[in-house]
Amino acid sequence: MITRSFLLLGGVLVAALSAVAEVNKVETLAKDVYFHEGDIGRKGHCNNGWIVFKDYVLVIDANFPSGAEDVIPKIRQITDKPIRFVFDTHQHGDHAYGNQTFADLGATPVAHEGVLEAFRKFEPTRWNDLAKNRPDVAASKPKAPTLLFRRDMIFDDGEHRVELLHFGVAHTHGDGFAWLPKEKILFTGDACVNGPYNYAGDGDIGQWIDTLAAAAKLGAEKICPGHGPSGPGDVLADQRAFFVSLRDAVKTWKDAGKTAAEAKAGADPLKEQLRKNPKIERYLGSFFAAQVEKAWTELGGEPFPK
Ligand SMILES: [Zn+2]
Repeated sequence: MITRSFLLLGGVLVAALSAVAEVNKVETLAKDVYFHEGDIGRKGHCNNGWIVFKDYVLVIDANFPSGAEDVIPKIRQITDKPIRFVFDTHQHGDHAYGNQTFADLGATPVAHEGVLEAFRKFEPTRWNDLAKNRPDVAASKPKAPTLLFRRDMIFDDGEHRVELLHFGVAHTHGDGFAWLPKEKILFTGDACVNGPYNYAGDGDIGQWIDTLAAAAKLGAEKICPGHGPSGPGDVLADQRAFFVSLRDAVKTWKDAGKTAAEAKAGADPLKEQLRKNPKIERYLGSFFAAQVEKAWTELGGEPFPK
């Protein structure tokens, strides 16, 4: 059956199978450096990473509490060193609501200061909304990061080096990247995803494009996105190309004096047009109309009519 499907569908099926196979599996990227693609489809989980230093473990993203519970035993299978730090790449629930779960193990949540500002701005409202539908959130409690950086923070024990970096507004106002210069691995949080997962409501698409350009200067050879499978350095360029194509199209409408209703009507045809570009096709999904409206309002357009 699989052989026959292979013949029928060729590369599409191979890609689908390899993507499925990676979810919830620990991927060893380099000595002491690990990536774990979370189950976003069924559980809403984000991706995680972890780096085993001489004395402790640094975890990338706290995930939801249930995502933290998924990944902690997998870290424990690899090392019994203490999980001392958990880095929230941004404040969203699927990346930061597991902070208390990690804190219960003795870890300190670390983040760009914009993450703390977002906790103060949005919580506990968003937490309480999600807790209605997520038992894991209902059973835990919000915990903001307490160790903060403005531009960068460096972990270096002579063997491993991880630089936490902020390049400006992107997916949120507090996006942090984790850069491993020796291995040329970049953990991006949701500033870069690998699939149709770009929620733009808390960020700024115009600034996002610039932030991705700044991150690209690192020269990463391996990208560990916030959602979707890990990939080569091109993933960062593809993510940026998606937003550039979207924003350029919306800007031509704005410059041509189109109305909000006309811009709204243009979203579906634009989606089909962008689908023809194989480098960005995978970014097109159910968020597309909202992404178009976000780009439109950033350019000074009125919100789309209901
Ligand atoms: Zn996310």
